[in-house]
Amino acid sequence: MASGELIFLVWNDLVGLSRTRGMPVAEYERRRAHGLAHGLGWALAGQALTPFEDIAANPWGSMGEVRQTPDDDTRCRVTLRPDHPALHLVLCNSLQPDGSPWECCTRSFLAQALDALEAETGLTPRIAYENEFTLIGEDLHWAPPFSLDAVRRIAPFADLCVAALLDAGVGLETFEPEYGVGQFEVSCGPAAGIAGADRVVVTREIIREAARQCGVRATFTPKPAPDAVGNGCHLHVSLWDADGRPAAFDAGRPGELSAVAGHFVAGVQRHLAGLCALAAPSPISYLRLGPHHWSCGYDAVGVQNREAAIRICPSPVSDVRERGDAFNIEFRFTDATANPYLAIGAIVRAGLEGVRAGLPTPMLVDRDPADLSDHERGSLGINMLPASLDAALDAFERDSTARGWFTPTMVEAYTVLKRHEATAFIESTPKRMCERYVLAY
Ligand code: GLU
Ligand code: MG
Repeated sequence: MASGELIFLVWNDLVGLSRTRGMPVAEYERRRAHGLAHGLGWALAGQALTPFEDIAANPWGSMGEVRQTPDDDTRCRVTLRPDHPALHLVLCNSLQPDGSPWECCTRSFLAQALDALEAETGLTPRIAYENEFTLIGEDLHWAPPFSLDAVRRIAPFADLCVAALLDAGVGLETFEPEYGVGQFEVSCGPAAGIAGADRVVVTREIIREAARQCGVRATFTPKPAPDAVGNGCHLHVSLWDADGRPAAFDAGRPGELSAVAGHFVAGVQRHLAGLCALAAPSPISYLRLGPHHWSCGYDAVGVQNREAAIRICPSPVSDVRERGDAFNIEFRFTDATANPYLAIGAIVRAGLEGVRAGLPTPMLVDRDPADLSDHERGSLGINMLPASLDAALDAFERDSTARGWFTPTMVEAYTVLKRHEATAFIESTPKRMCERYVLAY
């Protein structure tokens, strides 16, 4: 009998969801022998899908398609429970029929941003993610935050999940209980360039699959309920020069942030309000962002400051060489409703603007910025993050530099889609909005 196994062609779309078309593995292998160049067709208007069952106005209507074209290097096949079919997927670029990247292909957007950074500065980022998520299921009653009890209650899920993540080679480092009820965190080590973003897509889908096979649901929504602890998706970035040396670290400078990393961080800080539209891109993102939740409410930069949008993470070791290798910058405002390629690509573009302009290293803030007076925040150059998706989109639309990272069609498609998503919840209660996002993410 033929194998019924499917391989899923997966792409992460403008609302940060993994969309897919599947085919029998034998058919994939047949096409692979011919180079996979043609992928599978997908209507252009598919990029205007909201996370729910509707589609925003878009420039394409019923016309045209892209080819979702597998990058065979990203292929991943993991068997979790022996009585369940393997999870088999491959990540795609959205290409035009002539093979060039489509202007709304988010994976190509990141690739181009990384190329621009490397061409102008010689630097390559290494990227890592912390994945916070909440398990929703009948037996997940309250347990003390961060407790062994909380994590041992879900031991079969943890075991299944960890085995699959190890098999997938996503660089799993830790699996731990978090603050919220049923909340856990999976952290993966860094990978260079685009592989760092690929990793987060694959990691999330494996966590979801392990939960499904245990009869529970893993949700990465930024806010599972209005009074619940939020799920962040913190992004860690380090910079490396062409000789493989850490370039963000300089033991002799404030915060050990090298001059070039100081420019980079200043560029991100300058564009941060508009970046929120790409990295905290849902109405529900703004139930999570805010002071006193460690999710961050201000565009501050600080060493080991968990209330800063940009936290500098020094290494605990004293050896200078090892300190340089482990040194990285954490962007805390990002959440899992963002497309990781768009969020990282835009952060890289903003950082590159800072390097080009030689912006000075931001002042480092050594306390919760919410505890400062308006005057103190003003003199430190700290601003409140946008309070809603609409405010973030306003900031993005006002920021002509940020808009310029995209083609006009991409700006239109993205902002119309995101305005549509924001409008959909104007009449809704926070509770209802949370319920919808728990199911979507
Ligand atoms: N859950 C917090 C957030 O929403 C982060 C907590 C932590 O620092 O791990 O970002
Ligand atoms: Mg955490």
